[in-house]
Amino acid sequence: MSNKLQSIRGMHDILPADTAAWQRLEAVLMRLMASYGYQEIRTPVLERTELFARSIGDVTDIVEKEMYTFEDRNGDSLSLRPEGTAGCVRAGIEHGLLHNQTVRLWYIGTMYRHERPQKGRYREFRQIGVEAFGMAGPDIDAELIMMTARLWSMLGLKNVRLEINSLGSGEERSAYRRALTGFFGQHKDRLDEDSLKRLDKNPLRILDSKNPELKPLIAAAPAFSEFMGAESRAHFDGLRRLLDQAGIVHEVNPRLVRGLDYYNLTVFEWITGDLGAQGTVCAGGRYDGLVEQLGGSPTPAIGFAIGLERLSALIGQQNSGPSELAPDIYVLNATAAGEGAGLVLAEELRNAMPERSIVYHCGSAGLKNQLKRADRSGAHLAVIIGDEELAAGEVTIKPLRGQEQRRIGRSELVKALQSYFE
Ligand code: ATP
Ligand code: MG
Repeated sequence: MSNKLQSIRGMHDILPADTAAWQRLEAVLMRLMASYGYQEIRTPVLERTELFARSIGDVTDIVEKEMYTFEDRNGDSLSLRPEGTAGCVRAGIEHGLLHNQTVRLWYIGTMYRHERPQKGRYREFRQIGVEAFGMAGPDIDAELIMMTARLWSMLGLKNVRLEINSLGSGEERSAYRRALTGFFGQHKDRLDEDSLKRLDKNPLRILDSKNPELKPLIAAAPAFSEFMGAESRAHFDGLRRLLDQAGIVHEVNPRLVRGLDYYNLTVFEWITGDLGAQGTVCAGGRYDGLVEQLGGSPTPAIGFAIGLERLSALIGQQNSGPSELAPDIYVLNATAAGEGAGLVLAEELRNAMPERSIVYHCGSAGLKNQLKRADRSGAHLAVIIGDEELAAGEVTIKPLRGQEQRRIGRSELVKALQSYFE
């Protein structure tokens, strides 16, 4: 039997050819987070299984059948995180970050779900997420949605539409749940196995079914709005007004729910038609009860997560995204004596121009070959130092896109280089 070692199904290597694009995307994401005053939190990939069971909910796809759960050597049940919110809340409570204050956090990292791998659905995938604590009004809901809208525009993305809904309060949801159980109970013959299981314990989850055959039945189910109380209505209307003010087009989808149990009031998704069946790139909502449920003091909270594989697929598909992260300057060494002159020159340039990225050509390839590499790197300028230049205290600047090359004295080099970037 062949025993070729391969990565685990649904888990992928990101190879050097693709990491530059990932880094560009990550740089944009970090800029976005900083520009709204959010701070990064990093939590472990492994947590106690109980954390996810108590937060995400027992009767959810994730906890029932998607978690990577195992006993460690002490017999403790641990799970690889399937999402980021639970760990973030756990850490916030544990370190006293959430009590009586407003906190804006973000995280980025890999998540693990044992799903059937397909385009846009993997067993290891990346999410960037935001969690905002201590703010109860619809303005923070709007801020989160505005951040995501800004991200699409920073990335030059089109065809992503926003759906929003309200899941109201716990009481209102209980009444809605009873109505759904009643409705779907009358149509048991049309439900699939999963939905039958959800019928009594968690009928809201039937609305989130991926089974296309259930679509017509779900469309006929009662909408939550019939059960929405005045306070929930005011929050929802407030959010819609703020979105209108900000010019953010949105659509109310009365049957939008989230796959996790902890949501209340606002829920939203950004969906694109350009990625086939796995079209949700961002999903979020309010979870005012979760902090208390996990042992903290009552704290309003809202968050979202973006699936980064789906986002980068969309960038690839629409050919958008931040421009190349090519080096600014590629330093070539053409002296007979070897590497020293070029290596030192590159270092001098880094000292003088810390904002520029400078790549030095290592090794002793011929000038033509080095120029080819310089060109392929996407650099804007090549700087060449050969024996003649060295003897004359000069270097050659060769713009790689158009313009003539020229020789220039070392003392004027930095100024001359800078003029190309103005
Ligand atoms: P879906 O309805 O597609 O299963 P979900 O409701 O399970 O998504 P969330 O738990 O809200 O998704 O996660 C937020 C985002 O993370 C999703 O909108 C999606 O972009 C991404 N995501 C979720 N599961 C996966 C996966 N298995 N592979 C890749 N991306 C995923
Ligand atoms: Mg899912």
